[in-house]
Amino acid sequence: MYDTIIIGGGPGGYLAAERLAKNKKKVLLLEEGHLGGTCLNLGCIPTKTLLNSVKLYHQAQESEKFGITASDIGYDWKKIQDYKNETVKKLRENLTNMLKNSEVEVKRGRGEIVSAPSGDKPAIVKQFSSGSTEAAAEHEAKTVLVCAGSAPVNPPIPGAKDNPLVMDSAWILNIKTVPKRLTIIGGGVIGVEFAGLFSALGTEVTVIEMMEEIIPFMDREQAQMYRRVMKNIKFLLGCRVEKIEGGTVFYTDKNGTAENTEAELILMAVGRRPVLDGWGAAAAGIDTTGTTIGTRKIPGVVTDDRMRTNVPGIWAAGDVTGRSMLAHSAYRMGEVAAADILTVLDGGSSQDNTNNRMRYNAIPWAIYGVTEAAGVGMTEQEAAAMGIDIIKASLPMRVSGRFVAENTIMGQGALKMIAHAQDRRILGLHAVGPYAPEFIWGGAALIEDEFRTDEVKQLIFPHPTVSELIRDAAWALDK
Ligand SMILES: Cc1cc2nc3c(=O)[nH]c(=O)nc-3n(C[C@H](O)[C@H](O)[C@H](O)COP(=O)(O)OP(=O)(O)OC[C@H]3O[C@@H](n4cnc5c(N)ncnc54)[C@H](O)[C@@H]3O)c2cc1C
Repeated sequence: MYDTIIIGGGPGGYLAAERLAKNKKKVLLLEEGHLGGTCLNLGCIPTKTLLNSVKLYHQAQESEKFGITASDIGYDWKKIQDYKNETVKKLRENLTNMLKNSEVEVKRGRGEIVSAPSGDKPAIVKQFSSGSTEAAAEHEAKTVLVCAGSAPVNPPIPGAKDNPLVMDSAWILNIKTVPKRLTIIGGGVIGVEFAGLFSALGTEVTVIEMMEEIIPFMDREQAQMYRRVMKNIKFLLGCRVEKIEGGTVFYTDKNGTAENTEAELILMAVGRRPVLDGWGAAAAGIDTTGTTIGTRKIPGVVTDDRMRTNVPGIWAAGDVTGRSMLAHSAYRMGEVAAADILTVLDGGSSQDNTNNRMRYNAIPWAIYGVTEAAGVGMTEQEAAAMGIDIIKASLPMRVSGRFVAENTIMGQGALKMIAHAQDRRILGLHAVGPYAPEFIWGGAALIEDEFRTDEVKQLIFPHPTVSELIRDAAWALDK
């Protein structure tokens, strides 16, 4: 019998597996696709590898301004793709070795919970080979962790289903040629990253977004700035897609006028949903009705802050909970779940597990592309909605020596800090500009540890860096 069976080998699942196995637990990891999940195979890694190639291409085109001469600058899409595929393969091999060295047993197949653990009875999990309805094996475990991840949302837009010109983010990663014209439905992070990627390669890109601004969770001022930085992309905001015919998207604009736009390809990027079927949620009696945050109902497996589901002996982590659909959130949720499972397996009470609780208030996010952006904590709009009195400072990137040294186009981007008006606690940090994804963790640490502006002012940052703007913003707030 296993101590723990983990369903799903993405960031949430594989990190939890490693943590448990390192603590001498007998772990089975069931993965129906490829180890690494969406992140490694279809998400974070392939997109960032492609974006890095595109960034190099862009820099080479701009190089003359920096005194570097180059001729015949071009790109080879097939080689860019090959490099991306090699990178994914290499990282998948590293992951396979890491799990092997940690003595995690990995089996290929779909895992389905048949019955939850109860009293002395173990959980039963069946393993199915791809496409088969006959179980290939049946396993027993004291505990189960569900990390089944998420899948793209396919809205019921007439003409979208079975249209060979409409693709999701997984398909578009592997297209053979770069389209001349691309329409992207959805101006969230995934849509915007692909927009930046193809636009930098010369594709005429149109993004159709239903909301009044792109990236709905981003600080509004920063989102507007980010959109304006992406000069070559056409953004149609406040527009509702009505139907698709071939490569033509018909939409109603914000004035109620019927319009359309035509392209070679259409990317559907309207969001992702937790995978709630195929792993036995109903058989195990797991609550998948989702969580209400503010006025928003988020679908997904319901867990407490130790990632326990409503069924004793079964935990869930990552995108399947719908709470924060990011790889680093999945890592942390997996870690929290593993710590709690260890406590329970070792006979302790998970009530004792006070240090390992999932917190959602300081999870950073990032957008990559020719221009980068990142943020953590509260936006100005969220603070207003919660009735929190704030002070704010927004500093343009051009006050950073490193930014000016490395960028010929002045005035692009800014760093914004939000603090509590009374006690001056840092509540939010948001940046549009280079390196933001690399330094935003610092903002998370400031928020987690409840730093005040006067404490940030005393920190010493390396010079010249873009991150120095954090210190400058604290000084600007305390003026
Ligand atoms: C295009 C794109 C770009 C992204 N970029 C970023 C980024 O830059 N940064 C970031 O933080 N996040 C990014 N994400 C999101 C990130 O990929 C996810 O948040 C992360 O992968 C979630 O990890 P997970 O372990 O919860 O699930 P997943 O990575 O989705 O893994 C779940 C795994 O479970 C398997 N599975 C499902 N059901 C079963 C079953 N019944 N039996 C066996 N196996 C099963 C699936 O095959 C899958 O491999 C991106 C996503 C996309 C689509």
